[in-house]
Amino acid sequence: MAFGWIDEQAELRRRAGLVRTLRPRAADTPLLDLASNDYLGLARHPEVTEGAARAARTWGGGSTGSRLVTGTTELHAELERELAGFCGFEAALVFSSGYAANLAAVTALAPHGSLIVSDAGNHASLIDGCRLARGTTQVAAHADPDAVRKALGAHDGPAVAVSDTVFSVDGDAAPLAALAEACREHGAGLVLDDAHGLGVLGDGGRGAPHAAGVAGADDVVVTVTLSKSLGSQGGAVLGPSRVIEHLVNAARTFIFDTGLAPAAAGAALAALRLLRREPGRAARAGEVARELHTRLTAAGLEAVRPDAAVVSVRAPSPERAVRWAADCRAAGLSVGCFRPPSVPDGISRLRLTARADLSGAEIERAVRVIGETRP
Ligand code: PMP
Repeated sequence: MAFGWIDEQAELRRRAGLVRTLRPRAADTPLLDLASNDYLGLARHPEVTEGAARAARTWGGGSTGSRLVTGTTELHAELERELAGFCGFEAALVFSSGYAANLAAVTALAPHGSLIVSDAGNHASLIDGCRLARGTTQVAAHADPDAVRKALGAHDGPAVAVSDTVFSVDGDAAPLAALAEACREHGAGLVLDDAHGLGVLGDGGRGAPHAAGVAGADDVVVTVTLSKSLGSQGGAVLGPSRVIEHLVNAARTFIFDTGLAPAAAGAALAALRLLRREPGRAARAGEVARELHTRLTAAGLEAVRPDAAVVSVRAPSPERAVRWAADCRAAGLSVGCFRPPSVPDGISRLRLTARADLSGAEIERAVRVIGETRP
């Protein structure tokens, strides 16, 4: 029978208690949300939703074509200009997702004969970029600039190091300045995924590369998503103009993909302008994360010290992590649950995301529910 093998896989998943299911979210859900990536609480901000609505009314429900044909509107150009300016880069290129932006940056900057040095904790989209690229990938120990330096030193030819700025599983930060130095010593490029840094780290949320003083350097390229702190959807690559021009001409996920929907571009632009006007939102997300960590630790839970807005809480096993998240949900709290095969190290955890708009009472309630439901 066609696809017979998938039934065996399904059976194994069922036996391990690791079946994934989709749960459509109601618009007026009573759940307290510590699972979404809406770090600044902007996804439903009236200025952001109005930005989306206005863009859709002006430009339509879709962008109508690929970016090089009809899919580039004045709105896309405006978003690219403002995003680059805000984060401290010469230029930016918007994609239909952060995933597509990562595939583009890695594949277009790692030609045949090149070396890609990829952090062991990188996000799946960077890993997939490495798999698709013509260059050869070497996985380096997690957050270890010396491992990157050693790998680069052993290679002759074009090279690029690739790393998340804030790792999505444990929320720890990469040593960006040291990574940039290691790359510079060997004439290599550095590609950083700032999906969890933009809007949270750096002056007013300008991102982790800005905070580390590497934004705008001619050998640093940064990818971001518009779907987390900016409360919209889509992604972007930021970097020197010559790199962006190269992507326009060479990145397949740019050339062969329909341009970002106007509503998403309009929402992201409105969120970016709001963040410029209210820079305190960024610092607040970090404060909430640190408060969550302090309270969880005081309650005897094993939580990783957050460097941005992601707080990771260790669970004893994959099955118990899944049950723990379900018990939280039954008690009115929505949390993320990371377990194999989504985590490369095999360690299961609850993943909490701090939001700038969480109140003290909500933080307290979240910690109480997590403590009371612990396995
Ligand atoms: N990079 C990282 C580190 C992420 O966490 C994510 C989203 N889960 C992405 C890239 C992909 O971004 P998008 O959701 O916009 O495709």
